[in-house]
Amino acid sequence: MENAVKRIGVLTSGGDAPGMNAAVRAVTRSAIYRGIDCVGIRRGYMGLINGDVVKLDASSVNNIINRGGTILYTARCQEFLTEEGQVKAVNTCKLLGLDGIVAIGGDGTFRGALDLSKYGVSVVGIPGTIDNDIACSHYSIGFDTACNTAIEAIDKLRDTMQSHERCSVVEVMGRNAGHLALYVGIACGATAVLVPEKPIDFERDVIEKIRIARLNGRTHYMIVVAEGAGSAPEIGKKIQEEIAIEPRVTVLGHVQRGGTPTARDRVTATRMGYHAVNVLAEGRTNRVICVRDGRFEDVDMVEALQMKKSLNEQEYAVLEAMTGA
Ligand code: ATP
Repeated sequence: MENAVKRIGVLTSGGDAPGMNAAVRAVTRSAIYRGIDCVGIRRGYMGLINGDVVKLDASSVNNIINRGGTILYTARCQEFLTEEGQVKAVNTCKLLGLDGIVAIGGDGTFRGALDLSKYGVSVVGIPGTIDNDIACSHYSIGFDTACNTAIEAIDKLRDTMQSHERCSVVEVMGRNAGHLALYVGIACGATAVLVPEKPIDFERDVIEKIRIARLNGRTHYMIVVAEGAGSAPEIGKKIQEEIAIEPRVTVLGHVQRGGTPTARDRVTATRMGYHAVNVLAEGRTNRVICVRDGRFEDVDMVEALQMKKSLNEQEYAVLEAMTGA
C-alpha cells in the first residue's frame, strides 16, 4: 500500500480559524516527507469545482505557521451541494490525479468530503473551527486563539466598566454552541454566562447573578452571551428594564476569527495535518482526525457526523460556583 498514493489535495472550507495555515503547512510538509505531491485547492469546494489549484512545495508554506486566516482562502459553496457540482469536483480530482483530499473545516466541510468519497475519492477531515463543536474531537483548531482574543477584549472592557461602575454585555461567537462562551466566561471571571445548551431563566441566570455580585460589593458586572443563546442588545435592554442599570453592549464578532494562532493551535494543527497525511498514505479514507485526552486519533467520518457534543459539565459546574457566590 505504501506509496500507492502519489498526490493529494488540501483545502480549507467553511468559517476560517486561526491555525488553519499551520494545518495546511503540516499537510504539505508531511506529504513531501513521504514522497507524496501536494496540491492546494483554493476557496474550498468552489476551487475543486473550478480547478482553482496551486502546487504546494515545501517552500510555498514557509512563514505561514504564525499567520491567522488561510492562504488557501475559504468559501461556502452552494454549487457543491448539487450532484452536478460534485461531479465537476470529482472531474478536477481525476484531471489532477488527486488520490485523496484533506478537508480542513467544520461539520459542513466533512459532509462535503463524505459526498466526494461516494465518487471514489479518499477523504480525511481536520476539525478547524473556533466554535469547538466537532463532536468526535475534544478540540478543534482555532478555539484557543479565539478564546484568548475574546479574553483580551473583555479584560479591556472590564477596565473601563470598573472605572465607570457599569454593566457590560458581551456577545461571543460559537454559532449554536456555548463552548467558547463558557471557557471565556470562566477565564474572564464573568458575572453571568448564557449558553444555548442550558435553558435560560432571565431572573435566575442574569438578574440574580448581578444582585449577588452587588451584595458582594461589586459595582461592575460582565455578562457573557454566546451568540446562540440570544442577542446582546436585547439582553442589555432587558437588564435595563428590570433593574434600571444601563449596560454597554459589545458584539465581538469576526475579530475572534483572526489573529496569530496560539501555541496550542499551531501544535494541534501541525499534529492533525501530519496524522491526516499518514491516514491517506496508509490507504485509509473517510476519517476525521481528532484529539481525545491528548491523544491524536482518527474516527469514521459517518460516525463522527452522527455524534453530538455536549457542554463540558465539569466546566459548567465550576462556572456555576464562580458566578453563584
Ligand atoms: P463552520 O463550522 O466554521 O461554519 P463548516 O465546515 O461547518 O464550518 P459550512 O458552511 O457548513 O461550514 O460548510 C462548508 C461547505 O461545505 C459548504 O459551503 C458546502 O460547499 C459544503 N457542504 C456543507 N454541507 C454539505 C452537504 N450536506 N453536502 C455537501 N457539501 C456540503
